[in-house]
Amino acid sequence: MISISLLGVPNDDNSSFMKGPAEAPALIRQELHSDAYSLWSETGTDFSAQGRLIDHGDIRFDGAADPWDVIEREVGRAMDVGHPLICLGGDHAITHPIMRAVRRRHAALTILHFDAHCDIYHAYQGNPRSHASPFARIMEERLADRLIQVGIRTNNDHHREQIERFGVEVIEAVGWGSQLQRPITTPVYISLDLDGLDPAYAPGVSHREPGGLSTRQVIDFIHTLDRPIIGADIVEYNPRCDISNQTALVAAKLLKEIGGMMVKTARK
Ligand code: MN
Ligand code: MN
Repeated sequence: MISISLLGVPNDDNSSFMKGPAEAPALIRQELHSDAYSLWSETGTDFSAQGRLIDHGDIRFDGAADPWDVIEREVGRAMDVGHPLICLGGDHAITHPIMRAVRRRHAALTILHFDAHCDIYHAYQGNPRSHASPFARIMEERLADRLIQVGIRTNNDHHREQIERFGVEVIEAVGWGSQLQRPITTPVYISLDLDGLDPAYAPGVSHREPGGLSTRQVIDFIHTLDRPIIGADIVEYNPRCDISNQTALVAAKLLKEIGGMMVKTARK
């Protein structure tokens, strides 16, 4: 059986506007395991099956070590067990140290990034580790061969310069048609910022940006992937902004669909 690893990364040190995403992993797990819902993915994977989901718990930040070193080490440790890994944030800043660990283990890699924001500021409010900057660091350190961003709807001139400089492929919300997909020839890492969805579907985020993707569009996009999905993160869930755990449930649903496709693409 192909197993999927799960790891919580409860860190929101670098959120610019409000805190809260550090509280997310426990609440997403609660929805995932709620008796109200099935643990089957739409594509036929049963996450209640013995050994299917291996939960490594949450990373602990003790305050002494640099959190970036801790995340890189713990993600590496979870990946070395040998299964595709889904990380639950935390804010989007964590994707930078996660990718350091991922890249060390995958020479060829495309990041598929869902977000309202391109998160490619050179620095934001003076912080190069800001949750508005992870993809600047990732591209500077060449932690992926390609970066494909989907759902972006907040670009400014600085972003456009950075996107040009790093050769990022952007499927902006403005002007997108029915054809969202791009051909991908390498293993894939999915970085899913929940504010890529429209706030009607996912209100529990720090930066609500109307005009986004539906839950269905994100799931359909993920279901089209035909290369191995070796890792993923689901980030920016902010329980303090949520309405009756609606967004935690969306995160749990997307976790199952990403995990289901990890299983399906690993079989090929
Ligand atoms: Mn965002
Ligand atoms: Mn983001």
